[in-house]
Amino acid sequence: MTDSISLPAHHWPALEPGWVWLCGAGPGDPGLLTLHALNALRQADVIVYDALVDERILDWAPEAEKIYAGKRGGKPSAKQRDISLRLVDLARAGRRVLRLKGGDPFVFGRGGEEAQTLVQHGVRVRIIPGISAGIGGLAYAGIPVTHRDVNQSVTFVTGHDQSGETPASLDWAAISRGSQVIVIYMGMKHAAAIAKALLAAGRPGAEPVAVVAGATTPTQQVLETRLDRMAEDIAASRLEPPAIICIGRAALMRQVLDWQGQLAGEPPRDLDPLGRGRPAEQG
Ligand code: SAH
Repeated sequence: MTDSISLPAHHWPALEPGWVWLCGAGPGDPGLLTLHALNALRQADVIVYDALVDERILDWAPEAEKIYAGKRGGKPSAKQRDISLRLVDLARAGRRVLRLKGGDPFVFGRGGEEAQTLVQHGVRVRIIPGISAGIGGLAYAGIPVTHRDVNQSVTFVTGHDQSGETPASLDWAAISRGSQVIVIYMGMKHAAAIAKALLAAGRPGAEPVAVVAGATTPTQQVLETRLDRMAEDIAASRLEPPAIICIGRAALMRQVLDWQGQLAGEPPRDLDPLGRGRPAEQG
């Protein structure tokens, strides 16, 4: 346990030997962890973590054994089945297991599959949600995923399926018609195909797009572009995954809400990027 990190008084659950806590670590900034995640870090004796988990978070559990279960530095990724069975083995060995995943464990993170395997093997689990990159990552770029003047719904899409291709099951025409704001995870590799499909489905070429790479981390970068130039601008920008692509007029809000730019001394570019005046002051 790390004495320097204390939790407020509360009936915190105990991570018992033989249990696995499946926990979201948020998109990067350690400050975006939940208190349940911190409670888990303080008790785990083994942490199985993914590539997207910020190293600074692991430092908060100095005594726990750390097992890397992701893809980094060109090494092949651990197979999902192997990871799940490893968790079963660790639990059966009586360890206090923390399975730490980037963002939220149940959002495009295969957390549902892992948890199911654990339960099928009789292992007790607790699920600790986290802040997903498609919400919190965009907030760090000054983009609200919903805004009354823009959208009444938001669609979260994965740009990859299990084969690594653009998911064939996605009905881009329906997504295009039904959702004013589309938030794409894992979309960098297939950005050109995604843009083409949306344009073919009738989305305007001038539609605003923001790409947020390394959101909430010290290396966060944001590219502002438009749908018909998105793929070439991404390629020219050399932005690297992980990145979230936000398609829709919500991206314009960054012009007034880029709070990190404002912290660095930049003035807001446009106080009214949606052209709505100041409705709250007009009664
Ligand atoms: N469970 C995670 C998503 C895992 S899928 C979550 O809820 O956020 C991996 C994808 O998430 C990446 O390809 C990228 O699209 C997105 N992602 C995760 N962390 C990110 C970050 N810090 N910045 C931008 N995108 C991120």
